[in-house]
Amino acid sequence: MEKEITIRKPSDMHLHLRQGDMLKTTVQDAATWFAQGVVMPNTVPAINTPERLIAYRDEILSLAPDFKPIMSFKLYPGMSADAVKAMASSGTVLGKLYPAGVTTNSEDGVKSWHEIKEALGAMSDLGLVLSIHCEKPDSFCLEREYEYHQEFAAIAKAYPDLRMVFEHISDRRSIDFLAGLPDRVAGTITAHHLLLTLDDVLGANMNPHVFCKPVVKGPKDREALRRAAFSGDKKFFFGSDSAPHLKTKKESGTAAGGIYSSPFAVPLMAQLFEEHGQLDKLENFMSIYGPAFYGIAPAAGCITLVQKKSTIPSVIDGIVPLYAGKTVSWSLKN
Ligand SMILES: [Zn+2]
Repeated sequence: MEKEITIRKPSDMHLHLRQGDMLKTTVQDAATWFAQGVVMPNTVPAINTPERLIAYRDEILSLAPDFKPIMSFKLYPGMSADAVKAMASSGTVLGKLYPAGVTTNSEDGVKSWHEIKEALGAMSDLGLVLSIHCEKPDSFCLEREYEYHQEFAAIAKAYPDLRMVFEHISDRRSIDFLAGLPDRVAGTITAHHLLLTLDDVLGANMNPHVFCKPVVKGPKDREALRRAAFSGDKKFFFGSDSAPHLKTKKESGTAAGGIYSSPFAVPLMAQLFEEHGQLDKLENFMSIYGPAFYGIAPAAGCITLVQKKSTIPSVIDGIVPLYAGKTVSWSLKN
C-alpha cells in the first residue's frame, strides 16, 4: 500500500497572484493546494487604496470562492496614519514594505523606514503585521539580504509592539539573526530556497526560470534553511513567494526575477521532508505556524498526499513552473 499523509490544508503565507489573464491560472493552482494565502500587493497599479484592495479580492474570490485571500497593501513614502486606517477597515491584516527598486514593481518603494514612520506607528497601534522584502537594493546581490538586517533591527526597536515578517529568507545569517529577535518577529521560507542553490541558476547553463529575488544562495545557506524548516520553531513557516512571469519574458535579454512554484510546492515539500525523515514536521510548517503568527485560523479542512509519482508539466499556461518536466514523488489523493 502507498504511503499517505493527511495534513490541514496548507496556508501560503506569501503569494503573488498577478493580474489579467494570468490571474485565473494562479488562483486555481493556489486553490488546489492551499486553503488561504497572503496575497502580495505589487500589482500595477499597486494595492494601496481600499477600493483597489476590495476589487482585487473580489476578482480572486470570483475565480475560486473556496480560497481565502489574505489581502495586503503596499506601503508608500509619506503614507499617512489615516490611509493605513482606511486600509485596515477594508479587511487587510498586513502592509508590505518594498525597498525601492529591489524587485518586480518596486520602483516606487521605500528608501528608508523614516519615510513611513507615521504609517508604521498606525500599523503598530492597529495590530497589523509588517511584511518586508528584506534586501538592501544597492548592495552586492549575494549580500543584499544580510545588509538589510540593520534596517530590520532598527524598525523592530522603534516599534516594540509591531509584528514583523522577514520574507523569503535566503541567507543562513538571517536564521541566526531572527532567532535572536523576540517572538513577534517571524520569517517565511520558500520551496525554492529549500530546494535549490545558485548552481541550479548558473552552475551549468544559465536557467532564467529559477532566477528570483532574493537569489538562491549556497549549499550552507540551503542547509541552514532546511534546519530551520525542520526545527519545529514557530518562527519559521512556509510562504511560497510563487511569482510567475511568462516564459517569453523569462527567456528574453532581461529575465525578470520570480519562480512559479505554487502548483507543485506542497508535494515538493512533502518529498523534501520525507527524504530527511521530517514528515511529522510538515503540517506545522505548511499549515499551522503561519496562520498562528498572523492570528488567523488554520484551514478547517485537510488534504491527503499519497506517495505516488507525478510529472510536473514543462509549461503551465505559458509559465514554466519550478521543477518543470521533473517528477515529484507525492501526489494529491482524490
Ligand atoms: Zn514576493
